Amino acid sequence: KKITIAIDGFSSTGKSTVARRLAKELGYVYVDTGAMYRAVTLYMMRKVFVSEGNFDEEAILRHLPFINLKFVFSEEKGYGEIYLNNENVEDEIRYMEVSKHVSRVSAIPKVRKMLVKQQQEMGKEKGIVMDGRDIGTVVFPDAELKIFMTASTEQRAKRRYDELMDRGDDITYEEVLKNVKERDFMDSTREDSPLRKADDAVEFDNSEMNLEEQFEKVLKIVKD
Ligand code: C5P
Repeated sequence: KKITIAIDGFSSTGKSTVARRLAKELGYVYVDTGAMYRAVTLYMMRKVFVSEGNFDEEAILRHLPFINLKFVFSEEKGYGEIYLNNENVEDEIRYMEVSKHVSRVSAIPKVRKMLVKQQQEMGKEKGIVMDGRDIGTVVFPDAELKIFMTASTEQRAKRRYDELMDRGDDITYEEVLKNVKERDFMDSTREDSPLRKADDAVEFDNSEMNLEEQFEKVLKIVKD
C-alpha cells in the first residue's frame, strides 16, 4: 500500500537528497516544496523589486496569480525539475540571490496559502515523498510517515558550500554560514513559523552521518 511521506527540517539538512533517493527506491513521486517557494521568489525578483530594505508586498500579491509552477520529470536527474511559467528554473533558483530573499517571500500568508493548496493537490495520489518545512504539520497532517531532520548549523553550511562549489559559484564558506543562520532565524522565529516538528514525527540528527547512512536509516523507518 502506498503512503504519504513528509520530510521536514532546516535548510541543507540533506532532506532533499534523502527524499529523492527514497522516492526512487519506492517508486514514489518526489516533490521539493522549497523549489516552489524559490521559484515564486525568483519570479518576484524579476518582476517586483525585492531587496533587504525594500519589500513591496502589495506588488507581490498582484503578481501572484500569474505564476504557474510544475514539475517535469528529468530522466537525467532522476527527479522532477521545476518549471516557472514553462521555463526550467531548477538551476537558477539555487543561486544565493534567491536564497537571500526566499524566507521573506515565503513568510507572506497568501504565498503559503497558494503553494500549500498546490502541494495538497499533488498529494491526492498516494505514493509521494514531499520535503519542506511544514509538510507534516500543515500540508499533510495525516501523512503516514513524518520525518524531521536536523543537523548542526556548521555541518549544514558546509554541505551547502560544497554544493555551491561543485556548481562553480563564487562564494565563501562564511557567506554561506551567514545565509544559513539568517534563514534559520527567519524560518523559525516568526509567529506562524512553518518550521515545527509534528508531534508524531520521527526526529533524527544526521550531523555525523554520511548520505549512505542517512538513507539506510530512513529506509529502515519506512520498512518498519
Ligand atoms: O528547502 P530550501 O532550503 O530550498 O527552501 C528554501 C526556503 O523556502 C526556506 O528557507 C523557507 O524560507 C522556504 N520554505 C518554506 N516552506 C516550505 C519549504 C520551503 O517556507 N515547505
